[in-house]
Amino acid sequence: MEIRFWGTRGSIPSPGPQTLHFGGNTTCVEILLDSGRRIIIDAGTGIRVLGEHLKTSTATVRMHLLLTHNHWDHLLGLPFFDPIYREDTEILIDGWPLAFQALTRVFDDHMGDGFFPVAFDQLKARISFINRLARGPLVLDDVLIEAMPVNHPQGCLGFRLREGNHTLVFITDNELGHDEGRRFRDFVRFAQDCHLLIHDAQYLPEEMPEHRGWGHSTYEEAVRLAVEAKAKRLVLTHHDPGRSDAEVKLILQAARKLVSGKRGSPKIDAAREGASYRLPEVHPEARRQAASP
Ligand SMILES: [Zn+2]
Ligand SMILES: [Zn+2]
Repeated sequence: MEIRFWGTRGSIPSPGPQTLHFGGNTTCVEILLDSGRRIIIDAGTGIRVLGEHLKTSTATVRMHLLLTHNHWDHLLGLPFFDPIYREDTEILIDGWPLAFQALTRVFDDHMGDGFFPVAFDQLKARISFINRLARGPLVLDDVLIEAMPVNHPQGCLGFRLREGNHTLVFITDNELGHDEGRRFRDFVRFAQDCHLLIHDAQYLPEEMPEHRGWGHSTYEEAVRLAVEAKAKRLVLTHHDPGRSDAEVKLILQAARKLVSGKRGSPKIDAAREGASYRLPEVHPEARRQAASP
């Protein structure tokens, strides 16, 4: 499978000269299975850019859209996702059950007081809510997809995708250190031996006391999870909207320092718009070199 980031920011889009490197769009991740099937996680503002890309690269858009939860930063890009205005587009939505209702409410409600001028039932694409993952694992082209509720106000799902011998775990908006709800060991089990762990790292340890209960983690907690679960690679995501590129780079340095010199420890990156990963892993740099003439 190939994984590409289209939005890496938490809470609210944060465009500007300070966020050019890691990006200012909110959460959207594309997963292209080896079968060619396309899975998208979340419809943050990054999905608008994905829509532009699909216009030039794909004749028709067929995809699963897995929604982690119903907070606006994970939904508000959908009205600007160009394929929803095309009759030949098919979108199967799964994930957090309440997120589908919330998604329809982003659009007009025929009463003229919605957030967007077009009503959901006026969209040309075939969009259906299959609601499978909340009831158990989903198998798509031999890829096993599992979901687990995580620690976040109003709820949120983490996803685990296994293709052949390779596993991706995606957990955004999760408070690893929360003293209620899921325990740390539950997350270690869910992420056990994964090849790529993408996890929320919105806060610095010193910011945590003020943000306890907000449903996010520190980079230290995300690194601890990756180490204990023996993940091969960790990608920190859901960057705080107030964080500049330079500050995200400092977080990345600090996270790498926690594992430096330790055998078998995970490689660590910070999620960047446009960055892609392959499982089995080929480092993006190696692929760029292979692709250049
Ligand atoms: Zn969020
Ligand atoms: Zn949230």
